[in-house]
Amino acid sequence: MTVVALSGGVGGAKLALGLYRALPANSLTMIVNTGDDFDHFGLRICPDLDTALYTLAGINDPEHGWGRRDETWTLMRAMESLGGDTWFRLGDADTALHVLRTHRLRSGASLSSVIDEIRSRLAIAADILPMTELAVGTMVDTDAGEIAFQDYFVRRRCEPRIRAIRFAGAAVATMTAQVRAALACETLQAIVLCPSNPYLSIDPILAIPDLRAALERRRVPLIAVSPLIGGAAVKGPTAKIMAELGIESTPAAIAAHYAGLIDGLVVDSADADAASRIPLPVFATPTLMKTLEDRVRLARFVLARARELTVRGRPR
Ligand code: GDP
Repeated sequence: MTVVALSGGVGGAKLALGLYRALPANSLTMIVNTGDDFDHFGLRICPDLDTALYTLAGINDPEHGWGRRDETWTLMRAMESLGGDTWFRLGDADTALHVLRTHRLRSGASLSSVIDEIRSRLAIAADILPMTELAVGTMVDTDAGEIAFQDYFVRRRCEPRIRAIRFAGAAVATMTAQVRAALACETLQAIVLCPSNPYLSIDPILAIPDLRAALERRRVPLIAVSPLIGGAAVKGPTAKIMAELGIESTPAAIAAHYAGLIDGLVVDSADADAASRIPLPVFATPTLMKTLEDRVRLARFVLARARELTVRGRPR
């Protein structure tokens, strides 16, 4: 069984790790958001791709979810002493990846090939694919003006109120050849929307016109996992953003957001009663992923339910 998972950062990578462990080797392809990517101190930083790499390699920081475990912070301390910006935390080992990536990109390599090189060095038996080679930047229109994603998310800790979100460059971006091949693969059995932030992490992927069209043309079920548990986000600003955009933070709103794209939705047991308001197959199960076992169990549940789904009315 080959499975494609669309993912943002920490929340998405939790389920992706479960899928990675639940499936045979080389059966998972992650398509990862690059709308959060930015340049900092001249380095190209790709937070969601790096979270995917570190998580699947088992070297992520278990406390934060992002960055590397057993990290040291000499660079940041030296930076601070020299008066440099420290709002974006760069661990010493993490920075090696940013330096290497920037060097390779400047030498003419594609982002896909750089990520694949690192994936191979980290012995990850899954494909980790940037959604596009072109620069797409998530821009957040807030009560403090329009700001770039990292400025909103990290520097300002999601405090400004969001009015709208746009993905600069997405309309003219195209999916990579590897993404196209993964979505057209003969052995593909299911596509999973990980429980990432729909507005900041999944929407940039869906904003790439040919990628969205390929998802709409799919011949395999597409199943999403809700990032909400009992109306609240496990972590991060998903529920806050929904409130600011005037959207109820319910699984029904998540289903409506993905309307026309998904064939089924997995919700937390706490939200089981939402099913009656959702015009799609809804499957309730505990979705809080604290341990590796939680991740693998949820992944197995998602894969089993995907097998039961039909693709938007068309029999499989
Ligand atoms: P980020 O880019 O690092 O913020 O991460 P993502 O966008 O991939 O994930 C953020 C979302 O993951 C939030 O909306 C969380 O509610 C959701 N999330 C995190 N952990 C869990 C979990 O254990 N279960 C579920 N259902 N959602 C989770």
